[in-house]
Amino acid sequence: MLLMYLKYQKKMKYINNIFTVEKSRLTKVIEKFETPIFCYSEKKINENISNFKRSFKSFSPIICFSTKSNCNLEILKLIKRSGLGADVVSKGELMIALKAGINSKKIVFSGVGKTRSELIYAIDKNILLINCESKSEILEIESIAKSKNKKVNIGIRLNPNTDAKTIKQISTGKKENKFGVSEKTFIEVSKYIKNSKFLNLKCLSVHIGSQILDHKPYQKMLNVIDKLIKKINFNFEYIDLGGGMGIDYNKDNKKFNYKKYNQIIKKFLKKHKSKIVFEPGRSIIGDTAILISKIIYIKENSKKDFIIMDAAMNDFMRPALYGAKHKIIPLKKTNKMTKKSYDFVGPICETTDKFLTTNKFQKLNEKDYIIICDVGAYGSSLSSNYNIRPKPAEILIKGSKISVIKKRQKLKEII
Ligand code: PLP
Repeated sequence: MLLMYLKYQKKMKYINNIFTVEKSRLTKVIEKFETPIFCYSEKKINENISNFKRSFKSFSPIICFSTKSNCNLEILKLIKRSGLGADVVSKGELMIALKAGINSKKIVFSGVGKTRSELIYAIDKNILLINCESKSEILEIESIAKSKNKKVNIGIRLNPNTDAKTIKQISTGKKENKFGVSEKTFIEVSKYIKNSKFLNLKCLSVHIGSQILDHKPYQKMLNVIDKLIKKINFNFEYIDLGGGMGIDYNKDNKKFNYKKYNQIIKKFLKKHKSKIVFEPGRSIIGDTAILISKIIYIKENSKKDFIIMDAAMNDFMRPALYGAKHKIIPLKKTNKMTKKSYDFVGPICETTDKFLTTNKFQKLNEKDYIIICDVGAYGSSLSSNYNIRPKPAEILIKGSKISVIKKRQKLKEII
């Protein structure tokens, strides 16, 4: 019983009113490091990977971590140690995945605009699959393969015209989205590839969107795939179902139902003898990190106070980019509450440089520290130098050990 408790106890929680990651109190972090700073829990990453594997263990899929969600080299090394592969969308991501030691035979390459030089690099590295997203890309790969007298393994990404029921900006599987090819094009290009001396059709791939909390869109997507496979009467060695499984950002227990998704896939696999590939990003890394920020000023206003923080949209872009809501909590808890609304904003000269509005929060003071939750996915990987602001440091916590896994950029490096 005690073992079970220790295994499942939260990796990030308040202990004596101080937010603690594993065994490290964040007061220790702010004494040692400048803010803003990304802070990851190693145990949480490993726990998420184990849970993901366990959810689909009956058909042991190839799990390719979506590098775009987090491309920190040390995080990728950790992920590699758990046996995962990588899903990449650029030559840079492919290079960093290989640098992390990920086996090229566990790497899939997606993206609508892979350039000739990116494709040459991927072909030379003999990666598992290049998932093609247009007729033109297929012809480009064929011409490279011909010049090298090589047969290249490819997949075709289908646009299943399925609504993922997620934020519009991160929906990718509807016909108005730029991703994948239509069913008609799929049929046409698959015939072409079957007759090519230089292309090997290995995979049907899909990815309908991100932060999906309902399993039903996946059911619809698999129905579309099932019908298409029957139509073209072809046995794909791999079916790549992409990623997209959502996480509980609002902490209201709206969780993705892995059990149902597993059942749906198992049913599908009774009809089709293929190896399943997944490309999860957010579900592995999203809730494993926080961003610590210091309050620079508090600007009082008649209706609300502006909490001006040292973190901004360049450090963590999801709220400005898609209106994503991330919980904000104090680093040190007190019981003094305020009835005033707070607008948590950054110092950047953009109105969208705002993280959240709260109606009820603990009374804050200048120089207090706050925490933005669940920033592991599309956090540091989306950060930029907008306003010539250096990117934050990233640290990894394992018990009471704190390691710097990316140094804070220096101004001189970017000027
Ligand atoms: N695969 C592809 C092709 C993607 O574009 C993405 C992200 O949008 C992912 C996988 C990862 O998605 P998620 O982080 O939602 O699991």
